[in-house]
Amino acid sequence: MKDTFKHQGLRQKLVDTLIKKGIKDERVIAAIRKIPRHLFMDSGFLDHAYQDKAFPIGADQTISQPYTVAFQSELLKVNTDDKILEIGTGSGYQTAVLCELGAKVYSIERQKELFKKTSKFLPKLGYRAKKLIFGDGYIGLKEEAPFQSIIVTAGAPFVPKPLLTQLAVGGRLVIPVGDEVQIMTLYIRTSEKEFQKQEFGEFRFVPLLEDKN
Ligand code: SAH
Repeated sequence: MKDTFKHQGLRQKLVDTLIKKGIKDERVIAAIRKIPRHLFMDSGFLDHAYQDKAFPIGADQTISQPYTVAFQSELLKVNTDDKILEIGTGSGYQTAVLCELGAKVYSIERQKELFKKTSKFLPKLGYRAKKLIFGDGYIGLKEEAPFQSIIVTAGAPFVPKPLLTQLAVGGRLVIPVGDEVQIMTLYIRTSEKEFQKQEFGEFRFVPLLEDKN
């Protein structure tokens, strides 16, 4: 598992692109500058790892576009030691970003193959999530709630209720909502019963799967 000067140079260029596109959070930028994204991808795609694009990771899934990862991470406003739930572990790249930000990360993946692969891979890079779970993101993770933030990294046809109820008061849910195209949506839990909603434009994700196929 190599990270060369060439990779580091390409990462700096990627970071410059993200800043031009409007990413401002210094800690998010530092995380992306540091994490060797090429190691999260199948070897055939190594040359493309530092373009601002999504790429296949097997099982019909993709590693999210770096801009999308940065955008969602920025919306979460992560503080050190925040307890965060991620839905859609996938390659583990977003998980690694959250670990770099100092969060205690719980991440759920629906597909066994990806769950197994990423569970082995992340610790090799030194990223230790609190827990990686093979399960269904639609129901969240009640036993570990409340979470300071919840991030959904697949397109949700609707907002799953449990994700709202598992937020701490003051907590933030970042979720792309829609079928073909998704609207990036932020819910802030302002009190036990109230949520504030903000929308942030269109993104494209693979779908949040409702059935186990
Ligand atoms: N954060 C990942 C994104 C991967 S794509 C990365 O950057 O690599 C979205 C992921 O969500 C896929 O791995 C997919 O298998 C997973 N997923 C889809 N439906 C799910 C569900 N209901 N619960 C948990 N994970 C799900």
